Amino acid sequence: MQTPGTLHVVATPIGNLGDLSPRALETLRTVDAICAEDTRHTRQLLSHFGLERPLLALHQHNEDAQAAQLVDRLRGGQSLALVSDAGTPLVSDPGFRLVRAARAAGVRVSPVPGACAAIAALSVAGVPSDRFVFEGFLPAKAGARRERLAALAGEPRTLLFYESAHRIEESLADLVTAFGPDRRAVLGRELTKLFETVLDGPLPDLLAQVQADANQRKGEFVVVVEGAGDDADARVAEGRRLYAKLTEHLKPSQAAKLAAELSGAPRKALYGGE
Ligand code: SAM
Repeated sequence: MQTPGTLHVVATPIGNLGDLSPRALETLRTVDAICAEDTRHTRQLLSHFGLERPLLALHQHNEDAQAAQLVDRLRGGQSLALVSDAGTPLVSDPGFRLVRAARAAGVRVSPVPGACAAIAALSVAGVPSDRFVFEGFLPAKAGARRERLAALAGEPRTLLFYESAHRIEESLADLVTAFGPDRRAVLGRELTKLFETVLDGPLPDLLAQVQADANQRKGEFVVVVEGAGDDADARVAEGRRLYAKLTEHLKPSQAAKLAAELSGAPRKALYGGE
């Protein structure tokens, strides 16, 4: 029986091409083919490094259909690399279905680690980082986004979000409402690129800076938010979550009274979140 090949999951740069590791280069040079989210994008990356390998498209719309064929290739002895457009595959990117199918078929799946925007942002944020929660992209629709944030307001661990240029302002505004005016956050923009900026301060300050300067709304973002600190913070966060829900059915004053009673937070702090 043919010895199966290996599926190498290879991280690529999130901006600065100098971040492609020597091992990633060697892997991309030697595999039989590379599964890429966007083959044109990956072809550019390869040609920058003088590489030419067969590329196979693997994106969210064809991953289910392609996974079985790719696993057949691997079982037939071919070695494949999986890359996404930027950073680590599977992190807010396609790939988990292929990895799952390969592992289920007994194929070796091996990581070639490297850049990841969330970890890069966390590494320069200066917020508690022993434990954190990666939330990926928030929902695009305002209602669903606010509901998600309300559910996260009491989370004590540091939170990481991905955001795009066209929603950064709305998302920051919703974060202020859900988490209150005192929560500290860090905004990592265009990390490793020419216009890299890392802003840091209470959420309303970050929102004001982004609103005041159109350049600060351009590019790609990671939002790092400190977790709900002590018990008092957590009570206020829970009170705001309850208040937001209760105002759907009660007058604001009644909702605030009840939310304050249930959460133990001061009533004033709940109105303040509006
Ligand atoms: N797999 C990638 C990773 O490992 O980070 C993430 C892919 S996800 C589709 C793209 C999002 O990652 C962007 O919208 C942005 O939120 C974040 N991102 C990617 N590159 C970035 C950069 N250079 N600076 C800040 N955020 C970045």
